[in-house]
Order: sequence, then C-alpha cells, then structure tokens
Amino acid sequence: MNLPLTAAQRQRLEEILRQEHGELSARRKAYLGGLTRAEHAREVLLQDGDDAPQRASDREIDLQRVEEDVARLADIDAALQRIAEGRYGVCSACGEDIPAGRLEVAPYTRYCVACEAQRERGLKPAASL
Ligand SMILES: [Zn+2]
Repeated sequence: MNLPLTAAQRQRLEEILRQEHGELSARRKAYLGGLTRAEHAREVLLQDGDDAPQRASDREIDLQRVEEDVARLADIDAALQRIAEGRYGVCSACGEDIPAGRLEVAPYTRYCVACEAQRERGLKPAASL
C-alpha cells in the first residue's frame, strides 16, 4: 500500500514537469527552426551527393529524437492535466497510488510499477477495460 502524494511533493513534481516541458518545447522549436536550413543543405547534397546516405541516416536519428520529444511532451501535458484535475499520482490502470519515488524518477508516468511492467509485456492492465 503506497501513500498518496503530499501537497508539497505534488507541487515539486509539477515544477519538474513544467521545467521539462519548457526544455522540450524549446528544443523542438530550435529543431523545427533549423529544418528549413537542413532541407536546403539536403538539396545541395542531392545535387552532388557523395555522403548523402550518411546525412540521411543522421537525419533519421534527429527525427527519431524529435518524435521521442513529442511523445514525452504529450506525456507531460497529460500529467499536468491530471494535476489540474486532481488525479495525479494515481495509477490510470489499477487506481493505486504511485509511489513518490517512482514519480520523482518519471514524473510523467501514469502507471504504477506493476501495471507498467504488464504493459511492457504487451498485456492490457485489467482495470483499463
Ligand atoms: Zn497500477
């Protein structure tokens, strides 16, 4: 049985979430701002492209990173939404309180350890039905 978060813990986690949200948003904007230049550089490369395949794979890694950032941003948005609605820190699958220690490591998480492990094994948590 885990204890619910105290108001102070929740406030601290909210601050962490907002800060990470700001950092990810800034990084995404910087990347999108650089995209135009990158596209232009690629066109130049395609005209004379010895190392174009290498550049393309660099770009895939960039895109993957941006996709991860976007997914994380969505998780953080959802966590902030749960804070606003007073549902934060409770497992979305089984309704148990998520341990504060777990939230400190991953403040955007929405599942307790057991339900997360179940999800990673590809099983649906029973309570989500
Ligand atoms: Zn759970």
